[in-house]
Amino acid sequence: MVFQYAPAPESTKIVKIDSSYGLFINGKFVKSKDGSQYKTINPATEEVLSEITLAGKKDVDLAVKAARSAYQKWSKLPGSVRGKYLYRIARILQERSREFAVLETINNGKPIRESRDVDMPLVAAHFFHYAGWADKLEHAGLGPKPQSLGVAAQIIPWNFPMLMLSWKIAPALAAGNTVVLKPAETTPLTALLFAEVCQQADLPPGVVNIITGAGETGAALVNHPNIDKVAFTGSTEVGRLIASSVAGTKKKVTLELGGKAANIVFDDAALDQAVEGIVNGIFFNQGHVCCAGSRLLVQESIKDEFLDLLYERVQTLRLGDPLDKNTDVGAINSAAQLAKIQELTQSGEQEGADRWSLKCDLPEKGFWFAPTVFTNVTQAHRIAREEIFGPVLSVLTFRTPQEAIEKANNTPFGLSAGIWTEKGSRILEVANNLRAGVVWANTFNKFDPTSPFGGYKESGYGREGGRVGLAAYLKSENKK
Ligand code: ADP
Repeated sequence: MVFQYAPAPESTKIVKIDSSYGLFINGKFVKSKDGSQYKTINPATEEVLSEITLAGKKDVDLAVKAARSAYQKWSKLPGSVRGKYLYRIARILQERSREFAVLETINNGKPIRESRDVDMPLVAAHFFHYAGWADKLEHAGLGPKPQSLGVAAQIIPWNFPMLMLSWKIAPALAAGNTVVLKPAETTPLTALLFAEVCQQADLPPGVVNIITGAGETGAALVNHPNIDKVAFTGSTEVGRLIASSVAGTKKKVTLELGGKAANIVFDDAALDQAVEGIVNGIFFNQGHVCCAGSRLLVQESIKDEFLDLLYERVQTLRLGDPLDKNTDVGAINSAAQLAKIQELTQSGEQEGADRWSLKCDLPEKGFWFAPTVFTNVTQAHRIAREEIFGPVLSVLTFRTPQEAIEKANNTPFGLSAGIWTEKGSRILEVANNLRAGVVWANTFNKFDPTSPFGGYKESGYGREGGRVGLAAYLKSENKK
C-alpha cells in the first residue's frame, strides 16, 4: 500500500541564478567572442532559468590558450601545493553542498534526495581522494617521476553534471594538468557555480576553464590542435566521432560511453534484497545512468514470484516534483531524451514484448515517463539491445549459469553487471566470465572514488577513479 505523504519541498532560496552567463576563462567570467546564446530550462516545469553561452571557435581558442599558459606554472608547483587547492575546493563543495544539490535538481530534474545524498557527497569525496594523491604521484606505481600531460579537454554529459565534473577535474589537476571543461548543453548551471568555487578557492587563473555549448563547441574543443588529452563521457555515437577525429594525433583519449547492463538474479538469491537492487539499478536517476541495470536476467524457476515482488515494489515509487524530499523518480532531463525513450518503448510493444508501467499521475508540465517493465523480451528486441537511458527495464530469463553469462555478454556494450546469489563461488565464477568493467555482487550502483570505473567493447576505454584514474592523466601510463 502507498501512504500519502504531505508535500516536503526543499527551499530554493539558497540558490541564486543569474539571468545570463558568460564563459569562465582564465579565472574570470567573460563575454563570448563569436558565440551565441540559448536558454536553459528546468525539465520538471519547463521554466526558463537563464541564458547560456554557446561558445564559438574563438572562445574555445581563448580557453585553450588560458589553460596552456596556466599549465607552465601549475605543472611545476609541488604536489603538496596542488593538493592544498584541491582540499580547499573539496571543503567549499561540502560547505555549499545544499546549494549545489538544489541547483542540480532544478537544472537536471533528478530527485533532491539523490543530488543531496548521493551526487554531492561523492563529488566532495572525489576531490578529497585526488587531493591526497597530488603529493604522492611517484608512489602510485606509475613510474618514478610521472609527468603530467598538459591541457585536457573534458566533455561531460547531463545525467550527473557535478559528479562527472569531479571525475574529470580532480584527477587532472592532481596530476598537474590544466583543463577546459564543457558541461552538457541541458545542464550547465552547476558547472558555472563550480567556476565560482574555483575563484573562492583562489585557484590560479586558467587552471580550470569552463565553456558552455553543445556538440559544435565540443567538437571545436576536441579538434583544437593545442590540447594533449581528451576525456569524454557520453554516447557511443559521439565517442566514435571523437575517437576518429583524434586518431593520428598525439592526443590521449579516455572514453566512457553507453551500457546495457545485465542484472542477474539466481534462484537462491535473497529475493527482497534483489528486488531493491533491481529497482535501484534501473530507476535511480530515472535510469539516466550509463551503468544502469537495464536488463534483468532472472532464473526461470523464480520468475513469477520475483516479478510479483518487483511490481509490488515499483508500485510504491513516488514520481513527481524533484525538489520534494519524498520523490523517488524525478523528471526526464529533456524533451529530446523523452522522445527517445518513447520511441524505444513503442518499438518494444511493436516487437511483441509486454509492457507494464507504474500507475501514477504525470505532472502536466515538464518531461515525465512512468517507470516501466517489459516482459516476454527476446534478445533480438531493440529494448534488449539498445541503451534506452530511461526508467525502462527489460526482463529476460535463463535456466543455467552458463546461459545467464552468455545472455549477459550478448551485447555490444560492457560497462557494468550485477549478480544476485547467496553462493560465493557462483559470484566469483560468473563475475570472472562477464565482459563488464564493473561487476557488483548483491548490490548495485555503488560508487567510490577509490574504485576504478570504465568499460569494455562499445562502452569505451580507459578507467576513471582511484589510482588507475591518475594514470590516464600522466605520461608514464604507456611505460607500465
Ligand atoms: P547524451 O546521449 O548523454 O546526451 P552526447 O554524447 O550527445 O550524450 O553528449 C555528451 C556530451 O558530448 C555533451 O556535453 C555534448 O554537448 C557533447 N557533444 C555532442 N556532440 C559532440 C561532438 N561532435 N564532439 C564533441 N562533443 C560533443
